[in-house]
Amino acid sequence: MSKIELYDATLRDGMGGAGMSLTAQEKLRVVAKLDELGVGYIEAGFPSSNPKELELFGMLADQRLRHSQIVAFGMTRRRGTSATKDAGLAVLAGSFAPLCTLVGKSSVLHVEKVVRASRRENLAMIADSVAFLAGRGKRVFFDAEHFFDGFTLDADYALATLRAAAEAGAERLVLCDTNGGSLPGRVREVVAAVRDALPEVALGIHTHNDSGCAVANTLVAVEAGATQVQGTINGIGERTGNANLITIIADLQLKMGHRVLTAKQLARLTDTARLIDELLNRASDPSQPYVGRHAFAHKAGMHASGVRADPATFEHIAPEVVGNGTELLVSELSGRAAITEKAAAAGIAVAGDAGGETFVKRVLARVKELEHEGFQFDGADASFELLMRKEAGRYEPLFRLESWRVLVEQNAEGHVDTEATIKLWHDDQRYVLTAEGNGPVNALDRALRDAITEFYPGLTDVELIDYKVRLLETSHGTGTGAVTRVHIDSADGQSTWGTTGVGENVVAASWQALVDALEYKVQPGKAGARRAKATGSAKAGANGAGRAKTTGSAKAKATGSGRSRR
Ligand SMILES: [Zn+2]
Repeated sequence: MSKIELYDATLRDGMGGAGMSLTAQEKLRVVAKLDELGVGYIEAGFPSSNPKELELFGMLADQRLRHSQIVAFGMTRRRGTSATKDAGLAVLAGSFAPLCTLVGKSSVLHVEKVVRASRRENLAMIADSVAFLAGRGKRVFFDAEHFFDGFTLDADYALATLRAAAEAGAERLVLCDTNGGSLPGRVREVVAAVRDALPEVALGIHTHNDSGCAVANTLVAVEAGATQVQGTINGIGERTGNANLITIIADLQLKMGHRVLTAKQLARLTDTARLIDELLNRASDPSQPYVGRHAFAHKAGMHASGVRADPATFEHIAPEVVGNGTELLVSELSGRAAITEKAAAAGIAVAGDAGGETFVKRVLARVKELEHEGFQFDGADASFELLMRKEAGRYEPLFRLESWRVLVEQNAEGHVDTEATIKLWHDDQRYVLTAEGNGPVNALDRALRDAITEFYPGLTDVELIDYKVRLLETSHGTGTGAVTRVHIDSADGQSTWGTTGVGENVVAASWQALVDALEYKVQPGKAGARRAKATGSAKAGANGAGRAKTTGSAKAKATGSGRSRR
């Protein structure tokens, strides 16, 4: 079985997705993570299309990578000039990157309608460009753009573009489904045909997910003879995204028997997927195959007890293999064993005696009660842990609340100001804090953290990464009169956790979820647990401008100075 190469395009193609943007520093963190994961090639973009890329390539030149090679990406020369006079190719030739991927046209439709070059000129553009870079000592990969559509229109011409690249020195011919509309049967057929026509050159596959088949198309291409797979972490990319390299890696290794990573590297898959989402400030898809938080979750009581008896009953792989874990969801359905297990995982001791039995009973009763009010603990693992801690007497409150209030004022021009005031007690001291924010939750978050980060410096790293509101229809009312359930996802760079709150007032429900998010982090044994003595050395910016997604710009003025001790 031939060795399959992994090629990551997150930093180039992935950035084409809506709202995708990373600083050069963040891109460097992605590169380090991909190197650790063991990806062979990392496409970093075009070396000087803008100052940001220039800075990135400057920093990449100094990086020592163990497993990965950096690839510079560019286009074949323009029509009507020579390769030696083409500005883009000169930039690629001058880049430190030992490898270049050149994208060129392989579909007659694009040659005639987009480039408006003759078919012969397009072949010369490909051959000249590849030969030029190979002559400057670069290894060259050729991305055949719109290959599958082009092959259908004119197979001979599509193959001629590949031959032109190969004869000029391209080491990989990458077949691209640029519009992403192909289906697996056709991809298999075309890759096999190319394999037969050009048996001496290694083939790559680059797919987009417009037909929902990007991963499937990649896998069948490998079955048909492609040995390089291209994709992006979590499938990010323009429109419906690129092929998801995370899923592809797991499928290749665990289902198809290709050894693309070591076992240790494979166990970093979940970590890698979550770090990229974290850097992009987007909530991870809980249902993502292999690495999602719910990927190995079991809800029904029968499933949960089956999994405990033998994981093979309801799990397609062992979650640890990809660095994920089993999540036993709590709900009215789930059994008592699931609660014992969750309590143990959280380090809450409940001995299997009568004491343990009453604990489980109390927790179940409480869950039932709260679910009736509209709470749902699926995905709100942190709120559930706090619930268990309260029942077990292992709960440490952050503070004692006296009151909070939020003022929202909009003037005639539409300008909105939000201000929150919190009155609370900590160690018999009373604190009154006022802060502004770009919304009620943000203002409450700021005021609360101004009050408590002095005692809990670990909370400065906590960011609110997602905030969702759901209206629940109840017997009391519907629409804006309904009960609301708020869900907040928080992260601190190492882990993410979910919390929830329910109430008739959306700000009050948000407050519950917000307090849970911070309290979870400071419980005994957790990273943010209380310092023995407050040192007041909290980092600058400790007023905790949480980048809450829903509140837009995080550039609110933080007054944060309304502290008074009485
Ligand atoms: Zn692409």
